[in-house]
Amino acid sequence: MSSPKRLFGTNGIRGVVNEELTAETVMRIATAAGKFFERGSVLVGHDARTSGPMLTRAIVAGLTATGCNAFLAGMVPTPALQYAVKCHGLDGGIIVTASHNPPEYNGIKVLWKDGIEISRDQEVKIEETYFNAEPCLVAWDSIGEIRDLPGVIDVYVEAVKAHVDTAAIAQKNYHVVVDAANSVGSLAAPRLLRELGCKVTTLNANIDGTFPGRLPEPRPENLSDLSRVVKVLGANLGVAYDGDADRSVFVDETGEIHMGDKTFALVEKYFLKSHPGEQVVTPVSSSRLVQEIAESGGGKIVWTKVGSVTVSHTMKKLGAELGGEENGGIFYGPHQPVRDGAMSTALILDIMAKTGQKLSQLLVDLPEYFIEKGKIECREELKEKVLATLLEEVKGLNVNAIDGAKIWFEDGSGILLRPSGTEQVFRLYAEAKTRERAADLLEEYAKKLKEIIRNLPG
Ligand code: MG
Repeated sequence: MSSPKRLFGTNGIRGVVNEELTAETVMRIATAAGKFFERGSVLVGHDARTSGPMLTRAIVAGLTATGCNAFLAGMVPTPALQYAVKCHGLDGGIIVTASHNPPEYNGIKVLWKDGIEISRDQEVKIEETYFNAEPCLVAWDSIGEIRDLPGVIDVYVEAVKAHVDTAAIAQKNYHVVVDAANSVGSLAAPRLLRELGCKVTTLNANIDGTFPGRLPEPRPENLSDLSRVVKVLGANLGVAYDGDADRSVFVDETGEIHMGDKTFALVEKYFLKSHPGEQVVTPVSSSRLVQEIAESGGGKIVWTKVGSVTVSHTMKKLGAELGGEENGGIFYGPHQPVRDGAMSTALILDIMAKTGQKLSQLLVDLPEYFIEKGKIECREELKEKVLATLLEEVKGLNVNAIDGAKIWFEDGSGILLRPSGTEQVFRLYAEAKTRERAADLLEEYAKKLKEIIRNLPG
């Protein structure tokens, strides 16, 4: 039976430090995780947040008190820690990060021995131990050891390089601007790029857990400095990472910022040339562009619920080698089936170098879709009923109900209506080959949704 209460959200445990997430709570969570890892060896690391060292020590205390050995990676990007867990044959990992959340937040991601975040079933085991206050502590003579694990970033940078044509990239002498969000994005990517023969200019590369440069979510409104610097310096590429450097958003040489599903579609296009017939995994929130590229390249799209852990687990289950999200997450299976900002950057450079084309040109060559977004207020307790009614109304259409309702139309347009996991709203994403059609679709379905909500009893 699953626990009625939850600790884990869609991306681990998150909260405001010293309010929802205190050292004491974190230590109790770590003892529950320690019981789950059954006296195994667990790698622990953190991002650049001010609370990282404090909460990491609470994790280490909790793990060793349950007989686990704690290996310390220090301050590292999440994908570097994930890679180290796998390549050192450890039993698991814990990274202290709140990813793209503002600086007052922190969080915990628990990793399995393959470096992928644990499944929901595994999370439930930790939650049950935590909420039922099950005994976890071992006797004084069985307490685990604490050791440093140096070189996590060295091994990671080498692993990324092994998947691209380093000579072809080096020959181009690219100039790349990296916006590291004052966090761990500055620890691996600039070095990787220099080793790939690029000239690197960094922005917000000083580690500062107050995030003075920009908010750690790599959304276009936070990336105007990067866009300007790329353009003014005449650089070939700009890249911005989120707070734990698993997501990357790219800026072309003209300073234009591109959404994640567009750059993912580019990676997909070239991936399918060398991996014909492969399955490509992506959440229903991604653009139809991703599907069109798969169809024209002889691949097959597997749609999933929204959430990076679902993408990783689906890839693992199917043995799929590529996944991607519209928020800038690219999962490159030959390296590791998790989002990885440095790997994504190397893949984009690899495509630029091999084709000899600029990023703007490569992206202009992709089919064009126009996107219109909206949201409709809906009380939490009504969401399920509203969605069920909507699905009933659109039954005759081409609908995917894996997460919300995604409706596809013959002309290539589509709309996703999805209850938000964090706000009392339904989010709507319409896309089409023309802006007018996208706007019309958004209007039509916003109206339909409002009517459903109005007509519900209560
Ligand atoms: Mg992240």
